[in-house]
Amino acid sequence: MDLTVDGPEVGVEVVEAMERGLARMGRPDAEVLVTSDLQAAVRRLDTSVPAYTTQRGGGEVAGRTVITPEVSVIVLSDQYLRKSSPHDIERILAHEAGHLVLGESGEEVGSERLSVKPGWRWKLRYIGGTALEEYRIERAMYDLGYGSSEMAESDSVSSSLHVLNCRVFEAMADPRSHADTVYFEAMILAALSDFAKVLAYCGALSLSGRGRDYPRRELNHFGQANWDDFVGTHWGERLDFFETIPDVRQAGISRFETNVWLQAANLEQELLKRIGFIFQGPPDGGNYYFTRRQDDQVVESRLSRASEEAMVREA
Ligand SMILES: [Zn+2]
Repeated sequence: MDLTVDGPEVGVEVVEAMERGLARMGRPDAEVLVTSDLQAAVRRLDTSVPAYTTQRGGGEVAGRTVITPEVSVIVLSDQYLRKSSPHDIERILAHEAGHLVLGESGEEVGSERLSVKPGWRWKLRYIGGTALEEYRIERAMYDLGYGSSEMAESDSVSSSLHVLNCRVFEAMADPRSHADTVYFEAMILAALSDFAKVLAYCGALSLSGRGRDYPRRELNHFGQANWDDFVGTHWGERLDFFETIPDVRQAGISRFETNVWLQAANLEQELLKRIGFIFQGPPDGGNYYFTRRQDDQVVESRLSRASEEAMVREA
């Protein structure tokens, strides 16, 4: 491990846990930066994401792997390391090393970010492709014997579903959305992207032993209602797709075809439709419309569910 610490020193136990994680994913020499300002460090290292934020729908990100033509480095938050157990630290390093593996083998959709193509299909392909990376890595994590990721546990999934429901209403109620459709679209796509990652984490856990009816069977009452509304039968299609994708340890060996990113885009388009939005117009460039397609009754029941659940969560 090539470690740089920007801030207070990290303990021996922490360093050893980090080394174990990297070695487990086959990247013992990876470059790692520990920083007390993750957001600033990522923005400085990767200028293609000037608005990068460490906030994720109510939570805070622990780390990010930056892959650009200049650098490949795992950036970790010092605050996260301080509050985490050696086991959790090992797990996150193994996971992030998985992103390095994908980057090195050219199987990371993120690397295409620098040559942004126009059109809405590219956006969905990017959202689906980045979520797929999480699936490929997490699937390998379970095979390596790691325990479940908190993000895929039912409490967290119930909460993510509630956040998704609320974020759609927040976007619709935001006065800037009415004046600026690009802004509105970006708010909805950010919510879609975060939720697609949650589904990727769940998919890895489902297919690694929890079963296809996971996570729905373990969600709370609100979570199940949200799941049936936003995901429903779409889950089976997504799992069928995931089953065809090799895990990260096959990167560079298997015949990974980048056209799977288009299949992923189609799935995100379907999920977006279930959430209540569609793109209309040419998919690969030119003017298009981003339109809300929601039945009044559906909107009403989602809104009352969101406020009831918010009340229960605050109590
Ligand atoms: Zn990841």
